Amino acid sequence: MSERVDADVVVAGGGLTGLSLACALASARLSVVLVDRVDPATATAPSYDGRTTAVAAGSQHILEAIGVWPVVAAAACPINDIRISDGPSPLFLHFDHREVGDEPMGYIVENRHLREALLQRANALDGLAIRAPARIVETRQQTGTVVAALDDGSQLSGRLIAGCDGRNSNLRRWAGIPVATWRYPQTSIVCTAVHARPHRNIAHERFLPGGPFAILPMNDDAEGRHRSSIVWTENERLVPGLLALDDRAFAEVLAEQFGDFMGDVDVAGPRWSHPLGLLHAARYTGDRLALLGDAAHVIHPIAGQGLNLGWRDVAVLAEVIVDAKRLGLDIGKRSVLSRYERWRRFDNTTLAMATDIFNRLFSNDIGPVRLARDLGLAAVQRLPGMRQLFMRHAMGMVGELPRLVRGEPL
Ligand SMILES: Cc1cc2nc3c(=O)[nH]c(=O)nc-3n(C[C@H](O)[C@H](O)[C@H](O)COP(=O)(O)OP(=O)(O)OC[C@H]3O[C@@H](n4cnc5c(N)ncnc54)[C@H](O)[C@@H]3O)c2cc1C
Repeated sequence: MSERVDADVVVAGGGLTGLSLACALASARLSVVLVDRVDPATATAPSYDGRTTAVAAGSQHILEAIGVWPVVAAAACPINDIRISDGPSPLFLHFDHREVGDEPMGYIVENRHLREALLQRANALDGLAIRAPARIVETRQQTGTVVAALDDGSQLSGRLIAGCDGRNSNLRRWAGIPVATWRYPQTSIVCTAVHARPHRNIAHERFLPGGPFAILPMNDDAEGRHRSSIVWTENERLVPGLLALDDRAFAEVLAEQFGDFMGDVDVAGPRWSHPLGLLHAARYTGDRLALLGDAAHVIHPIAGQGLNLGWRDVAVLAEVIVDAKRLGLDIGKRSVLSRYERWRRFDNTTLAMATDIFNRLFSNDIGPVRLARDLGLAAVQRLPGMRQLFMRHAMGMVGELPRLVRGEPL
């Protein structure tokens, strides 16, 4: 027998997935230790991550159910409509949230606000301890437990370890789980634009030959300036030149891509860049191990769904574990973990493939392909049933929904 168990679950990685899982489990009265190599003060600094996240309606339900949304709400900008266009083509696709109900299709939230809210909730929960900065350097099995060794020489043991340690997951590697992976010849530039006229809560995605150019509605800043988050995906060869431009020259190029439909446009604050790739783990589980979020799957940001998949992983794993615990079962058992794997694989695989196909179809300037996709956009625009199905997918409200996505407690 193992000599001690520090927690029901050790969460490896305190990114947005790991923090959400830790909050979900501790809200359901499981004991959790979360480990991250980055100091929380560093991870919440404005310079750490300049991205925003499009939080789908289903993910908002999860954050509400685990007590995080009340803190996030003030910083969240509703997305009521989505407008998709193909370069200069006059054909477009418009999704209006009123076609599927009253609630917004989702919200744009700055990642640093999500992190702050999750940390605030985590610190308020009994039974949840955070060890950061600390790095997990090894894991090993003991009878009935898994033990994680930290770089400060200490050890943590749990019935289960959750690998939320991102795309280069060590836990995945140590478990010998292979991945399917490839690079896209694209990099996303992320920055904040300020514009003269309000965005009216419409998210725009314009497909350009290098990749999608997304204009995502944000709340006005403290000075009342109208803001949008930009995710500009470009051919990776052009990106170093764009990043090297001085602020004024970059703002001019950006304003050209943006267009003048919101009046004068400028750039506020720094630019970030993210090289893009796809990754999918061959298995999400191992001995007393479950992989979640980017440790299990990384997808193209074309549809703003990567973390939403991670949140659905959280909702399903938390439900599976809580159900097992209530039945008095060992939560690290294979049969418990395989329920998680079976439930999540189809959704993750489908979205990884769909985003890959959309990116290949739209990120080029080949005449016949352009014609076919423009006709496709126009056809979907004329088919309300099809439009509503796309919207429900984007909102994360399709398939067998776990309790947290339905807004129910665990
Ligand atoms: C440009 C861009 C835009 C995006 N926009 C959206 C969007 O609008 N909507 C959406 O849903 N998704 C979006 N995504 C995807 C989303 O950002 C990611 O899916 C998400 O951030 C992954 O979070 P994670 O917690 O799984 O992984 P990570 O953020 O990588 O976190 C992993 C954590 O593990 C820690 N760690 C790693 N190894 C160890 C170790 N050995 N010991 C201790 N700690 C360790 C790290 O410090 C880190 O904190 C976007 C992605 C990009 C690139």
